[in-house]
Amino acid sequence: MGRSRTAEGAGRRGLSDDEARARLQEDGPNEIAATQTRSLWRTAWEVVREPMLLLLLAAGAIYLLLGDMKEALVLLLSVFVVIGISISQNRKTDRALAALRDLASPRALVLREGRRLRIPSREVVRGDLLLLSEGDRVPADSRLAEASDLSADESLLTGESVPVHKTAANDAPRTENPEEDRRSRLFSGTLLVSGCAVASVEATGPRTEIGRIGRSLDTILAGRTRLQDETDRVVRRVALVGAGLCLIVAVVYAVTRDSWLDGLLAGLALAMALLPEEFPVVLTIFLAIGAWRISRRQVLTRHLPAIESLGAATVLCVDKTGTLTQNRMSVRRLSSSRGTLELDRDQKTLPEAVREVVELAILSSRADPFDPMERAIRELGSRLPVDFERTHADWKAVAEFPLSRTLLATTFVWRAPGRPDDVVACKGAPEAIAELCRLSEEQSNRLLEQVRRLADDGLRVLGVARSSVPPHAAPQDPRALVFELVGLIGLADPLRPTVAAAIQECHEAGVRVVMITGDYPVTAANIARQAGLAPPGEVSIITGPELQAMDEETLRRRIGSTNVFARVAPEQKLRLVRAFQAAGQVVAMTGDGVNDAPALKAADMGIAMGQRGTDVAREAADLVLLDDDFSSIVEAIRLGRRIFDNVRKAVAYILAIHVPIAGISLAPVLLGWPLALLPLHIVFLELIIDPACSLVFEAEEPEADVMRRPPRDPDEPLFSRRTVTLALLQGVGALTAVLAVYASALKFGRGAEAARAMAFAALIASNLGLILTNRSWSSRLRTSLRSPNAALPWVVGGALVMLGATLAVPELRELFRFAPLPASEVLLCMAAGFASVLWFEALKANRSGSPAPGPIQ
Ligand code: ATP
Repeated sequence: MGRSRTAEGAGRRGLSDDEARARLQEDGPNEIAATQTRSLWRTAWEVVREPMLLLLLAAGAIYLLLGDMKEALVLLLSVFVVIGISISQNRKTDRALAALRDLASPRALVLREGRRLRIPSREVVRGDLLLLSEGDRVPADSRLAEASDLSADESLLTGESVPVHKTAANDAPRTENPEEDRRSRLFSGTLLVSGCAVASVEATGPRTEIGRIGRSLDTILAGRTRLQDETDRVVRRVALVGAGLCLIVAVVYAVTRDSWLDGLLAGLALAMALLPEEFPVVLTIFLAIGAWRISRRQVLTRHLPAIESLGAATVLCVDKTGTLTQNRMSVRRLSSSRGTLELDRDQKTLPEAVREVVELAILSSRADPFDPMERAIRELGSRLPVDFERTHADWKAVAEFPLSRTLLATTFVWRAPGRPDDVVACKGAPEAIAELCRLSEEQSNRLLEQVRRLADDGLRVLGVARSSVPPHAAPQDPRALVFELVGLIGLADPLRPTVAAAIQECHEAGVRVVMITGDYPVTAANIARQAGLAPPGEVSIITGPELQAMDEETLRRRIGSTNVFARVAPEQKLRLVRAFQAAGQVVAMTGDGVNDAPALKAADMGIAMGQRGTDVAREAADLVLLDDDFSSIVEAIRLGRRIFDNVRKAVAYILAIHVPIAGISLAPVLLGWPLALLPLHIVFLELIIDPACSLVFEAEEPEADVMRRPPRDPDEPLFSRRTVTLALLQGVGALTAVLAVYASALKFGRGAEAARAMAFAALIASNLGLILTNRSWSSRLRTSLRSPNAALPWVVGGALVMLGATLAVPELRELFRFAPLPASEVLLCMAAGFASVLWFEALKANRSGSPAPGPIQ
């Protein structure tokens, strides 16, 4: 249920902007502790402790022992380059997360100079008037000025989970009793479970109760993702195998060539080659930057693991009002027993036949409504020549019965001067009005037939009724009165213009869209048809009462073919989420109210509304739609799939490139050849591999078919057998080329240094080939080269320039232990390296010619 109640603070002004500014200066921002960002030093320390750095330092030390000053120096210098890269990667992640935190930071509704303003909570100051309602988190310690039916969950402070009833100080006289004093105060960080209030801020930031105990509410939860756990397992395994291999290499080398230090060096080079440090880095960066990219599409990620589920969602359960529709209502039709009026946009007249319908609808709405239906009704009233505001200026509301779960109607009791009895005005769901008017079955059917006609046109329908009661005799429950039906109101709430296309896209992407609404079934069905949720004639509906009566088995059966759930209470959403999950679906669910929180938590992806949602719903959700727009969810799904694809591409590349590096380090030791790769070469390679992973693959555009393939199986591992096999095969291809180059150079008596230079050129070329081919697992190199990637030219260009320098500049050549080579030979070796990935291109071409093209997975 949308929020129907909010505090009004009518007649109050609040602070002036200048006063607020001055107090903010004086007291500082209303926050407990500035969100901690890692300092540069801390980041540097974290980086220095990484195994790669330790290996580099160890290798540098051995060179020192061997007396190779230059090598030692270059390796130690390269430590700084590697640290620099790691720090910049960490900073990038931190910045992305900080930007998300900013977006997620809480906001508060305050009254300043008589205007309602939604401001960041950190700008709330002493003396501000807070307007609070059900589902809000209290932004600062404050004293109640007005409270209606208010209760707060203060468990955060007191540990007591039963909500505390609150009353305004002027309702209950100020007291010395601290227990009672607390009843008229609200505390920062606690939650309003029901009611609404106006409260004046007494303390902010560290001076609040929660501030004094130094607790802060974190706005973004990092959480570990399944991918991270899986990657950790793989990293541990690879590290173990790597360590074993290094030991073997060191010992074999030392024993066969009788040189322990050189053996150690060979072992260290292999360890550096095998260290799978890129895997966790890739995940952290891709998820954090991914979340930042998603936030630019107006979707805030509160819980990073949700990004993984995004590409796997199979069912999207969405609210109708405000998510599929614009939540901008206008009254379109009025009907009473005396006639019907079709309103146009600038309706200026009101026939007598329907005058009372409008009058009572206004009298049963709040003066300063939050509810869009009530706003539309008041807005109509203000356009008409009959000035209801003036004619009722001296009427006084003496009782109010808000919408409740059991009675979908709002009722107000008015005391009118000169009238013997109080006037009772009521509007609500037609079924509720029929009940209040005690209609016979036949009358009721006639009414519902009229309602159906309005709803068939997609209008939301409210019934309006009237009653009267002697002064001071208003009952506890409006059902104790007998009402008289006055008429019906039909309101239009147009579909958001982007919704139909977005739903179509979901269907193509194998994602079912299901509407869950509190609205009338016929209205819901009409909107579902307009949105293209189901083909005409195939909209199948389950209503809340039907759901109530249904057993789990029937529900699970019917849920597969139902696309609209109407007149559903928020509490029933949890049951729906569970039923979908039991049917094997991965569920994304939207919600905005307090009662939606359990369903949002239970869903694989809970999505809250940023604009109309409550704090409770936002806190329970994984994602927040900042603009409440359905099509943003679809954008997020597209990005989620892209992020997963890119992680997989990066992982495949990392696996692949480590095969030739490890192989060319290992083979010479076992075959008794001169060593091909020394630690310096590995560092050089790392300088290409690192940015290739974190910049090139992260920024890769989505595959053309990203929204035309079915959702990913959530149980499918990242390191699936197919991904791993293909990646290793790519690596074996590259290794074959590099080994062939090295072996033939040695065989033709070119000497160790020339052979090393040739093998290195082949290795760099095959590395670039692997980067290029892994950019897309579905489109061929020719196509993917046309897809822009800002980092790619830098990485490729940088690698080529650095390779050229090591081959052409004598000092560098010496350092790398290369012999001079003619350009033609370099090009030949590079061609061999590059050609080693072409088989994968052929595989892609073959696949895209097949009847069911798609990425190779
Ligand atoms: P959705 O679930 O898509 O937001 P909804 O707004 O109709 O749809 P609820 O907020 O649960 O869902 O409202 C349920 C019903 O209660 C409405 O269809 C309407 O008949 C009645 N209702 C809601 N708000 C008011 C109101 N302010 N005054 C009178 N009746 C209301």
